[in-house]
Amino acid sequence: MLTMVGYCWLCHQNLYFAHHGICHVCMRRLKWQQCVCPRCALPSESQDAPCGRCLKEPPSWQHLIAITDYAPPLSQLIHRYKYHRTTQLATVLARLFLLHWLQGYREGRWHKPDRILGIPLHNKKRWQRGFDHIELITAPLSRWLRCPHQPDILRRSRATLTQRGLSAAQRKTNLKHAFQLRGDFTDQHVAIFDDVITTGTTLHEASQLLISAGARSVQAWAICRTL
Ligand SMILES: [Zn+2]
Ligand SMILES: [Zn+2]
Repeated sequence: MLTMVGYCWLCHQNLYFAHHGICHVCMRRLKWQQCVCPRCALPSESQDAPCGRCLKEPPSWQHLIAITDYAPPLSQLIHRYKYHRTTQLATVLARLFLLHWLQGYREGRWHKPDRILGIPLHNKKRWQRGFDHIELITAPLSRWLRCPHQPDILRRSRATLTQRGLSAAQRKTNLKHAFQLRGDFTDQHVAIFDDVITTGTTLHEASQLLISAGARSVQAWAICRTL
């Protein structure tokens, strides 16, 4: 696979700004999440008020922010990034997320976080993949938003089964006490990042830990949200 430095990763046209990675035409074509519930990012009639599901069972975080649904072209970019070791895509995806996040921030929909954490990978996965795909995205996001980058603060405390193929109940048991958090988060706004959010069980586990450690608010961040 040729690297696409200088070319749009989606349409392969020349880029005016090589480091952007995606041209303005492809940017405009992305189906940015818009009319979604602020707490679960699933389609909703209002983006200002939580949907019925979230009113009934509020998630542990205040906002779930994802760029698009888990669909092409971003699902394909994530696949290429993770499974074909295309690490140059980390900053491209981070920048896309930043643009999406800034839009909501300027509209006053969420706070700037004091810290940005990533969901830690299983050691085996990190070893197999050869890089930490989450950390490569949270590093530039932390830099751009002037947050300290502390990738070791949230860790896996034990190996867990992969969540794929497990029932909702099994997912919860599988992740119980799966993470360890160091430090005091009193009064802090914290963002926690994963590449794709499916059921949210992993993020929920991490988010609850943050709240127990005193966090004032938690934002769940992702590139894509499965519907
Ligand atoms: Zn393009
Ligand atoms: Zn909702």
